[in-house]
Amino acid sequence: MVVVMKPEASQAEIDHVIKRAASMGAQTQPITGESHTVIALVGDLTQVQRATFDAMAGVQKTVRIQDPYKLASRTTNPEGTVIDVNGIRFGGEQVVVMAGPCSVESREQIIQTAVAVKEAGASVLRGGAFKPRTSPYSFQGLGEEGLKYLAEAREVTGLPVISEVMTVETIDLVAEYVDILQIGARNMQNYALLQAVGKTRRPVMLKRGLSGEINELLMCAEYILSNGNMQVMLCERGIRTYETATRNTFDLNAVPVLKRSSHLPVVADPAHGTGDWELVPPMSLAAVAAGADALILEVHPDPESALSDGDQSLKPERFADLMRSLRRVAAAVGRSIATPKESDDSAGMAGNKNRSTEETSKSAVLA
Ligand code: PEP
Ligand code: MN
Repeated sequence: MVVVMKPEASQAEIDHVIKRAASMGAQTQPITGESHTVIALVGDLTQVQRATFDAMAGVQKTVRIQDPYKLASRTTNPEGTVIDVNGIRFGGEQVVVMAGPCSVESREQIIQTAVAVKEAGASVLRGGAFKPRTSPYSFQGLGEEGLKYLAEAREVTGLPVISEVMTVETIDLVAEYVDILQIGARNMQNYALLQAVGKTRRPVMLKRGLSGEINELLMCAEYILSNGNMQVMLCERGIRTYETATRNTFDLNAVPVLKRSSHLPVVADPAHGTGDWELVPPMSLAAVAAGADALILEVHPDPESALSDGDQSLKPERFADLMRSLRRVAAAVGRSIATPKESDDSAGMAGNKNRSTEETSKSAVLA
């Protein structure tokens, strides 16, 4: 159930609703939207009477959430959630482009790529330091060294960074260096990991599993949300089907289905969705036309020598061409492409060394 507060409801009225719901045994999650605050009631609602809330001061209405994913449901926040990462807004009018190599391979490689993708207009830098590889003999990522290079690339460009976290034990480490935690497809249903990132206050991008149904993706998001972290984005990255012409089948249906079902921002990953750099531009344009709030793309200065996913990585100049086309498609569907923040005004926000002590302390990360 959600209790929708009136736009003019006071904090005291909001607090009163939360207290009353808790006294009836419900777990509560307030969500502050642009115009309203809504309070989601989840867990054991057997003692909860809707009429009690309908009669309370400051309450506009109560709405039953029919979906099994209560906090992820669009009913919970019909106007849509906007996640602000150092001034880059996911889920708003602008489409965010995240770009960078599949793996951080060296200091030079990530800095060179970061500068190139920013120059072309990307506003977030991607790069894997802990890599979930099919073979244990393949490059596994540079680990903490890779995170340090990523943080350096952020210092140089001012771009916030996203990187994958694979284990509960490394969440604090990864969160120390990155702005957005990525949960990879292979970990979509790693419930311990989902609960643990749910206890952080860092934005999370949750990727759809290789054989994950859309409803399962939403239930996995619910694990993060129900642990108190409401900054979750959902990522379509292709699924396993009988089709072998492409690495995965990029399920573009998922984009409007997720937008209809959930208030969370939706990211599309045409690189993993297709596995083929030639298919990345058309499917990126299609994803924006379909309503994606963000794209995540793989860009490498020399894809042929990439240590992972070279086949689906764009060269910087091809990425720049794609950005030009993306601006036109975004305009055609009434949106625009987010522009990168300038290093000067963003360094204070994005630079890890400039984060407040409280922000960087491990206890705060796992608040
Ligand atoms: C990646 O983003 O490089 C990655 C490993 O993605 P996925 O988890 O979707 O395979
Ligand atoms: Mn990859």
